[in-house]
Amino acid sequence: MTPKPHILVAGGGIGGLAAALALLQRGHDVDVYEQAPELKEAGAGVQISPNGNRALHALGVFEAMQRLSCNTAGKEVRLWNTGKTWKLFDLGTEAVERYGFPYVTVYRPDLLQVLADAVRALKQDAIHLGCRATGCSQAAGGVTLHFEDGRSAHGDGLIGADGVHSGIRHALFGGDRPRFFGMIAWRGVIPIERVPPQISRDKATNWIGVGGHVVHYPLRAGRLMNFVGIMERGDWQVESWTTQGTAEECAKDFTGWHRDIQEMIAASPTLFKWALMGRDPLKQWSEGRITLLGDACHSTLPLLAQGAVMALEDAVILGRCFEKYGDVATAFARYEQARIDVTTRKVVGANDNAVRFHNPALATEAGATAYVDREWSREAIIQRYEWIFTYNVDTAPI
Ligand SMILES: Cc1cc2nc3c(=O)[nH]c(=O)nc-3n(C[C@H](O)[C@H](O)[C@H](O)COP(=O)(O)OP(=O)(O)OC[C@H]3O[C@@H](n4cnc5c(N)ncnc54)[C@H](O)[C@@H]3O)c2cc1C
Repeated sequence: MTPKPHILVAGGGIGGLAAALALLQRGHDVDVYEQAPELKEAGAGVQISPNGNRALHALGVFEAMQRLSCNTAGKEVRLWNTGKTWKLFDLGTEAVERYGFPYVTVYRPDLLQVLADAVRALKQDAIHLGCRATGCSQAAGGVTLHFEDGRSAHGDGLIGADGVHSGIRHALFGGDRPRFFGMIAWRGVIPIERVPPQISRDKATNWIGVGGHVVHYPLRAGRLMNFVGIMERGDWQVESWTTQGTAEECAKDFTGWHRDIQEMIAASPTLFKWALMGRDPLKQWSEGRITLLGDACHSTLPLLAQGAVMALEDAVILGRCFEKYGDVATAFARYEQARIDVTTRKVVGANDNAVRFHNPALATEAGATAYVDREWSREAIIQRYEWIFTYNVDTAPI
């Protein structure tokens, strides 16, 4: 019997580890090369919608993640200055009934750890740390991944899961031209005992205002509160998980916003800042024995909460394509075909939310009420999210 292809993965983030898991589960040999000296996710939250949980289920880690996730008790929208609150119709609370899986919030390091444990349970030494990929090449017989320290690895196929600044994407298709969206995202994770008492501990709250919005939701069975504040601002253009700002700078960005927001900013032990850049969706992800996955091929504004979910879905579909087609180039081509339209639609949907969340109609309470009634009505929410939550990685055509 011909041995199954040996696959190399550049990047050990959520997408790279999920892809490795999907392939190891199907009996492939996989090696993951991660530049960082240790597996470490940004200490931040991530929302996993029902379709993402279906992907985690397909990867065999849904139960393990459930133990570390948080189910929020509904969603509310609040107005930036007065704090007026609208209880929303929430697809999340009826998610299990409607889609078979819940809508949860997760601490990113927990998700990465669960994926890494599952990978290592199938191949103990699959993850190689401190290996920064610098280039790749392919020939009829296979692929080679080159590293900064002069070493290289050989395999039958290569997945570039090396994130938004992907070097593999650059090697395949040349440099990209990210478009600055003129927005900064502030991130903080607050121990729950430091969260001001008047702020809901079990709901996901979305503050909306002219030129900015804030989202906060509980993590880790309610022990932490995730804070993300997005503000239109033209002077910061670095996409980074690790650049810190100060509470003063963040508070300045939210001048005039409700006291609850100011108190959350003051309670955040550390605040990180990330510039929101947009990239036009790629028209092609694969070339022969090399493909891309996750942010490397469809980075998105974080305004639909689907970036990590898309990477998880990519991984499952890729695994199914290997199972069905066997041959590396065919599996990559079919995977791309199955995923490119659905991910493009989500990237566009996230861009649309930038306009929706920061709308000028939110300047006054009267304007905001009419606007929220329209944009967050049951019908509008179903129209925006139903097609996303009903996507089924187990049965999507490949
Ligand atoms: C503020 C914010 C909030 C978000 N909220 C959500 C949310 O609620 N829900 C959601 O689904 N998504 C969310 N996202 C998006 C999500 O974080 C990303 O889509 C997701 O992390 C993509 O995973 P990835 O594995 O493709 O890339 P990454 O997580 O970036 O992983 C890439 C990995 O590759 C490694 N790497 C890079 N270069 C090299 C190299 N040369 N050699 C070897 N290794 C390399 C990196 O070190 C990293 O470990 C959010 C994003 C932001 C910025």
